[in-house]
Amino acid sequence: MSKIAVIGTGYVGLTTSIGLASLGHEVIGYDIDSAKVEMLKAGKLPIHEPGLDVILAAVLKSKNLQATSDLALAVSNADFIFTCVPTPQDEDGSADLSYVIAASKAMKDLLKPGAVVVTKSTVPVGSAQRVEAAIGRSDINVASNPEFLREGAAVQDFEHPDRIVVGARSTEVAQSVMDLYSKIDCPKVLTSQPAAELIKYASNSFLAIKLSFVNDVAALCDAAGADPGEVMNGMGLDTRIGNRFLEPGPGWGGSCFPKDTRALASIADSFGLQIPLINAAIASNEMAHKRVADRVMNALGGSLVGKTIAVLGLTFKADTDDTRESPAIAVIERLIGRGGKVVAFDPMINQYELSGLSVVTSPVVAATGAHALVVLTEWAEFKAIDAKQIIDAMSGTVVVDTRNVLNQKIWQDAGATFPNTSATKAV
Ligand code: NAD
Repeated sequence: MSKIAVIGTGYVGLTTSIGLASLGHEVIGYDIDSAKVEMLKAGKLPIHEPGLDVILAAVLKSKNLQATSDLALAVSNADFIFTCVPTPQDEDGSADLSYVIAASKAMKDLLKPGAVVVTKSTVPVGSAQRVEAAIGRSDINVASNPEFLREGAAVQDFEHPDRIVVGARSTEVAQSVMDLYSKIDCPKVLTSQPAAELIKYASNSFLAIKLSFVNDVAALCDAAGADPGEVMNGMGLDTRIGNRFLEPGPGWGGSCFPKDTRALASIADSFGLQIPLINAAIASNEMAHKRVADRVMNALGGSLVGKTIAVLGLTFKADTDDTRESPAIAVIERLIGRGGKVVAFDPMINQYELSGLSVVTSPVVAATGAHALVVLTEWAEFKAIDAKQIIDAMSGTVVVDTRNVLNQKIWQDAGATFPNTSATKAV
C-alpha cells in the first residue's frame, strides 16, 4: 500500500482521497480552504455526493484517511501526490492552469526524492511539461491521470469506472500510478502524457456534442409533431449510437462540459486547427437554453413581464449540490431577462444570489401564485410531487417539463397544460 497526498478536496479530490483510502492506501487530503479540512476531520462532507459519507466514515475509522491544512505534513512522506485543484475557464476560453502551477510550486521543495506528482485536474495538452518546469526537480516524476467521475454517481464511478487512463513519460512511472488501482477491475489505459490529457477533453466534448445534437433533434421533433422519445428510442437501438445520453433537456452545463468544450476549441486554435463541430455544439447549447425560455414565454401569451414562474431544480443535474454553470440558472437568467420573476425550489439549494430569483423551501411554496411551472433538474423526488396541490396553488396551468420527470397524464388530470415540449413523454 502506498502513501498518497491529495491536493484539493473538492468534488474530485474528496472522491479521490476517500476512494484511494478505501482501497487500503494511506491518504492525506490537503486543501487551502481550512473550513473544508476541519469538516473532513470531523467526518463531515463539504459536498453532497450520495454514498460518499459512508465510505468517509469507514476510512476515517481505519485511519487510512487524514486531512490537514499543513502542506508539508501532507506531501513530505508521500510517494504519490494527486493534484485535484480547479482549472477554470480563462478569459479567452482556454483552461486557467494557475491553480495547478501554484500547487506545484508550493510543494516542490517539500517532495521526497522519487515521488510522483499526478495531475487529476483536467488540463490541456502540454500541461505535464509545465508542471515539470514548475517543480524543476529531476528526481520527481509527473503523470497525468484524468478524472471521469460524474457528480451524483462519483462513488459508483470510482469503484466501477469505464476505464482508468494514466499517461507519463515512462511506462514504469505510468504503471506505478496504475498499480494504485490494482483492486479495481476495469480497462486500464497507459498512454503518453498528451494522449492522457486529450482523452479527457475529447471525451467530454464528444458527450457535449451528442447532447447538443439530441436537443436540436428534439426541437425538430416539436416542430414536426414527432414524439422525441420515440425518435430517441429508434435512434438508440442502433448499437453504433447507443441509448445513453439520448435524453433531451434544457441544455448541458455543470463545472466541466462548458469549460472543457471551450478549452478544446482553444487547444485546437493553439495548433492552428479549425474544429468547427465543437463551436457548433456550444452555440446549439445556448439555443437550447433560449428555446426553454421561448416555450414558457409563448405559453404565457408572448410576454413574461409581470409573470411569476415557479422553477423546480437549480443544480446542473440531480443528486448533487453543484450549481456551477447549471443550465437551470442559464434558463432562469433568460426568464428574468425577459421581465419574469422566478421562485425556485431545489432539494439541495436554499439560497442563490441572482436578482429576480428567490429560493423557497418547498415545491408548493414555489408554485403559489405562479403563472407557469418549469422543471429544470431531474430530481427523482419531483416525480412524487402532488400535482393537484401544485396546480391548485398556481394562478396559471402551464407546466414545462424539460427533464421528463413528471407523469403528464397525472398532471393533465390535475389541470396542467403542457405546451409543446422537448422532453419525452412520461411512462
Ligand atoms: P472544486 O472547486 O470542487 O475543488 C477544488 C479544490 O481545490 C477546492 O477545495 C479548493 O479550495 C482547492 N484548492 C485550490 N487551490 C489549491 C491549492 N493551491 N492547494 C490546495 N487546494 C487548493 O473542483 P472540482 O470540481 O473537484 O474539479 C477539480 C478538477 O477536476 C478540475 O480540473 C475539473 O475540471 C476536474 N474534474 C472535475 C469533475 C467534476 O465532476 N467536478 C470531473 C472530472 C474532472
